Amino acid sequence: KQTNGHESEFLQAVQEVAEAVIPYIEGKAKYKGTKILERMVEPERVIMFRVSWIDDKGETQVNRGYRIEMNSAIGPYKGGLRFHPSVNLSILKFLAFEQVFKNSLTTLPMGGGKGGSDFNPKGKSDIEIMRFCQAFMSELFRHIGPNTDVPAGDIGVGGREIGYMFGMYKKLRNEFTGVLTGKGITWGGSLIRPEATGYGNVYFAQSMLKTQNTSFTGKTVVVSGSGNVAQYAAEKATELGAKVVTMSDSSGYIHDADGIDAEKLAFIMELKNVKRARIKEYVGQYPSATYHEGQRPWSVQCDIALPCATQNELNEDEAKTLVANGCICVSEGANMPSTPDAIAVFHDKKILFAPGKASNAGGVATSGLEMTQNSLRYNWTREEVDAKLKQIMIDIHEACETYGTDENGYIDYVKGANIAGFVKVADAMIAQGVV
Ligand code: NDP
Repeated sequence: KQTNGHESEFLQAVQEVAEAVIPYIEGKAKYKGTKILERMVEPERVIMFRVSWIDDKGETQVNRGYRIEMNSAIGPYKGGLRFHPSVNLSILKFLAFEQVFKNSLTTLPMGGGKGGSDFNPKGKSDIEIMRFCQAFMSELFRHIGPNTDVPAGDIGVGGREIGYMFGMYKKLRNEFTGVLTGKGITWGGSLIRPEATGYGNVYFAQSMLKTQNTSFTGKTVVVSGSGNVAQYAAEKATELGAKVVTMSDSSGYIHDADGIDAEKLAFIMELKNVKRARIKEYVGQYPSATYHEGQRPWSVQCDIALPCATQNELNEDEAKTLVANGCICVSEGANMPSTPDAIAVFHDKKILFAPGKASNAGGVATSGLEMTQNSLRYNWTREEVDAKLKQIMIDIHEACETYGTDENGYIDYVKGANIAGFVKVADAMIAQGVV
């Protein structure tokens, strides 16, 4: 805490893991004297670098680039790149730390990392995005590689940005390898990767609902965000017979009591992915819906909530409102969207609650499947990848159940995910000695 006192998000993530893991390791001979948790909270390497580029007016711009190489005990560093003005060391260290446990939970051989920049993609032209991505990669390329560190997308980094960065990496290294995931389908990408985080979140929630002998059919679902994760979470929930009634962006949320069906979702995808416009334009197209400027959707009545925007977007009061309105299941698509106080409310009321490191692991799991396909120089079909993704989410659910079920049968998925994720990494680190 002394060294990282100013890194509030990082401390928040570490605190949650420590609360689950310390009681677990205490008294176990194999962890005695290993300082295992102290070693895990220290990144193996932090890279920070200048990214300078020229905007459309011919002016020089300067941003800061980062890559946190957190842990490589079970595989190459793996984790997304985030481009957002709020990006700082604390946020990226929290994301990298979470990623270590999440990647371990997927059962695939991937270590943990995260990176990005405080660059704001909003309002930038396509050419400016390309110039920035190229400048960013002109430094990052020397630190990454298919057997070293394999970045992917995150907030502000989708298929377009991955393409520009991959092109630059290939030019600089003169090699075509699976150094990034989330690639386009004609140049090494995997089918289902764009859908994987959102779909995986819904598959995980399906497993949780099954423990209560229920399902998505006929349920009302509140989704936050309208980016990659939110779009495909909404799509899968709707496909399974639920009614999704909200989506949001950083300016506000829309509420459509009739449900955001496939046609309306296609409108949102066009709006956000192609026009790069604001969610409020939805009500222009569908006037029976309402727009709530500057607000989050948690006061809308629902059975299931899927927070899919960003960290700390659901606080204690909002958690109380959700539960009071009859919500029985919260499954995180985003990373750490619920504050610790909100999680305490869900646990206190004994509703189903899944932390992102378990429920959104489908994205990185499918990135792992993309890496495998790249190594094999082979592509699996949509059905094959989807089946593997489903099975991985079922297995993660089972791991959470194993380590998180209390004497009354209540599953604490936070505890379960943290311990299950920890064991594999800790054992690998101990086996590899103090290095
Ligand atoms: P996108 O950039 O595609 O979408 C992000 C969405 O969240 C947008 O609707 C955005 O609104 C909103 N948002 C971003 N920042 C804020 C903020 N500070 N306050 C309110 N809303 C905000 O990102 P993704 O969908 O990829 O990522 C969403 C979350 O899921 C993140 O927490 C990410 O770490 C996590 N995640 C993503 C994975 C992936 O595969 N993409 C994998 C696992 C986790 P606006 O348009 O206004 O910016």
